[in-house]
Amino acid sequence: MSKASCDGCGRTVTISGGIANLWSFGTDAGTVGTAITLDLEDGTSHLLCYPCLEALPDYPTAADVERLEQVDDETSQLRSR
Ligand SMILES: [Zn+2]
Repeated sequence: MSKASCDGCGRTVTISGGIANLWSFGTDAGTVGTAITLDLEDGTSHLLCYPCLEALPDYPTAADVERLEQVDDETSQLRSR
């Protein structure tokens, strides 16, 4: 486990495992704060926390990632353009 910050909202997150693109949730109390690396179709990759992943559309773009903002400890949302 290592610490980093979410590229979307900036909250401190824990990277699970070390296996890219996989994360587990519900296996312990640490669901919030878990993150994965999301590889976008434009070739960029972003470390994103679980609430940000929830807020993103099915096929997010780098612009969507930049619009992410933290609402509270458990929620993220997309800023309106
Ligand atoms: Zn986030």
